Order: sequence, then structure tokens, then C-alpha cells
Amino acid sequence: MMLAQYAAHPEQSKGRKFSEAASPQINGVPIRNDFQRDRDRIIHSTAFRRLEYKTQVFVNHEGDLFRTRLTHSLEVAQLARGIARTLGLHEDLTEGIALAHDLGHTPFGHAGQDALNACMRDYGGFEHNLQSLRVVDKLEKRYAEFDGLNLTFELREGILKHCSIKNARELGDVGERFLQKQSPSLEAQVTNFADEIAYNNHDVDDGLRSQLISIEQLKDIALFAENMALVKDTYPGIEQKRLIPETIRRMINQLVIDLCETSLQRIHALNPQTIDDIRKAPHLIGFSEEITNKNNQLKQFLRKHLYHHYKVNRMSAKAERIITELFNAFMQNVELMPEEHQWAAKEDQPRAVADYIAGMTDRFAIREHRRLFAVEEYL
Ligand code: MG
Repeated sequence: MMLAQYAAHPEQSKGRKFSEAASPQINGVPIRNDFQRDRDRIIHSTAFRRLEYKTQVFVNHEGDLFRTRLTHSLEVAQLARGIARTLGLHEDLTEGIALAHDLGHTPFGHAGQDALNACMRDYGGFEHNLQSLRVVDKLEKRYAEFDGLNLTFELREGILKHCSIKNARELGDVGERFLQKQSPSLEAQVTNFADEIAYNNHDVDDGLRSQLISIEQLKDIALFAENMALVKDTYPGIEQKRLIPETIRRMINQLVIDLCETSLQRIHALNPQTIDDIRKAPHLIGFSEEITNKNNQLKQFLRKHLYHHYKVNRMSAKAERIITELFNAFMQNVELMPEEHQWAAKEDQPRAVADYIAGMTDRFAIREHRRLFAVEEYL
């Protein structure tokens, strides 16, 4: 599919904060467009490599087969690219946003984020979405001439999914749309839905694998039950090991097809000519009403039976304790942190402590906590 006129076009990018030489050309064609360069910078960042040891529902050491933030981000990129291609959007930009969307996550998933946000209550709070932007704008230190990765406006806009009015005022260019009540690019909107499709489905898969939820419980959930019935009709007597992935891939297909069809209808109805028309319009990417309801039913199920399963709650409680105790220890004595973080603390100690903790992987946070609090541990 050709790049649609309403897609993000790299030649018309609002650009980078620090101007840079154009990509080298061969026979007059740049080797990489600016959105490819963004994506490549993300893949080479240290924050991206840490995603391997960060988790959402299951803590990293709980099993080798569960999704990590890295494999989650790859699944989001895979879904987002396919949807973008179908809708005539810029695949490289969509992929870049997908690979960057979780860079700012704390260790231990949402329990970690909630705990760090509580610690930062009097110091401007902590929000993983904003932190992802902070990672690519400031915390990565790989270039001689600037902090951060100096990404294009479009990539940064895509990372910032939501934002308070107060933060939007401080953020400048990428904060504007929250003040103007405008929409982000369709590439950004697609990535949000790809994120949601990815985690709902892989959490069903991981939830079943961990035996925290069962097929029996999922029989009342339309999206799962209807697709499982289709698989059983086609393959009577199929073994459970194959039944689950056959069901889940049908669920993903159903969601993706509905998203593409519904979104294309809305795009055609509006007939946008440029990305500016997209920014002024309400969000155009979305599910039909029927699929929205089915998807919500699945989300509610997961919230109740998986994310608040007592075994998950126990790990969340531990995570909260680790994050809070680390935060308090570094606030009381800044010299417990490695030197580069002590330097950052001279400017703003709470933020420097939050940045240090947010950058930790699950296992590093556990080890760091042990090093600080267990008398028999050294260093
Ligand atoms: Mg995500």
C-alpha cells in the first residue's frame, strides 16, 4: 500500500531539537529516512536493552516463557506495522513509537510505577509515559553534542500518550496538543491500539500458562469463547497446548481486522488531506462498538482474575516495599547512589532518585535492595 497523504511523511517532519546532517545518500536516495534513524537509535539505546529484564505482570525470575517488556514491545511493533501498512501509514514511525513506548517503565510493572508515583507525590509525581519521553529526550547519554537521542517531533509525540495540563505546559512542542485538545498522528493512535491488543492477548496466554487463570473461567468471555469454539469445530479433539495459541491468534486477527475496517471507514468519511487534518480531527483509529464491548469484557476479566490474583498481589506488595525503601534510603543519603546519579541529584534530588530507580530492571532492584538492607550482603 502506498503511503497515504494523511500519513506522517519524514520529509515533512517537524524536525529534531538539534539539527543534524542528513542521512548519507546513494544515487540520490538517503540510506535511511528520519523515522528509520529514530527507530535505530531506540534499538541501540541502553533503556531498550533493559526492557529484557523488566516485566508487567510476572516478575522476571518467575519463568522464562512469560513476556518481558522487550518481547511485549516487539509484539506491539509487529502488530502496529501490519496495521499501519493496511491503513497507508508510515511503518517505520509506527515501529519506532512501538519500540519506545515502554522505555520509561519502572521495574515490577504497574506496582512499581504506583509505588514510585506515591514516593514522588510531593515532588511532581512519576508517570511512566512521561518518563519514556524523558529517557529519549534527556537520560540516554550516547551523543557528543546533546543529551538524549534527539528524535523527531513525530516520534516524541507518539510516545506521549497522555499528559496532564500542568506537564503539557512545561513540555513545549509535544505538550501543545493537550492544551489545544488535538489528536496525535494516526501512527501514534495505531500504536496505542496495538499495545492494547498485544497485552490483552499475551496476558491471556501467560495467565493460562501460569495457571493463575483457567480455560473454564474464560468460557464466559465472548472474545475467547467464540474463537475457541471455532477452533474446536475445525479441529475436534485438538490438544490443549495447541488449542490456546490457535484461539489467541484468532482473537488477535479479529481485533486487528475490526480495527482496520472501522478506522478506514472513519478515515474515508472524513477524507483528510494532510496530517494537520488528522491532528484537528477526533481520534479516528478505533474498534467498532461490538468489538469495543467484547474487548472491555476481556479487560475486566483480566483485571479481576489475573492482575489482582492473590499471588500477583503478593509480588506487587513486595515490589512496592522494595521501591519505597530504595527511594527513602536514597533520599536520606544521596551518597548511597552511584556517582553519576549523585551529580544529577545536585540539581533535583527526588527526580534523580526517581530516574535511578525507574531505570532499574526487576532483578537489579531486588539485588540493590538486598545490598542496602541485608547486613550479610557486601557492596
Ligand atoms: Mg505497552
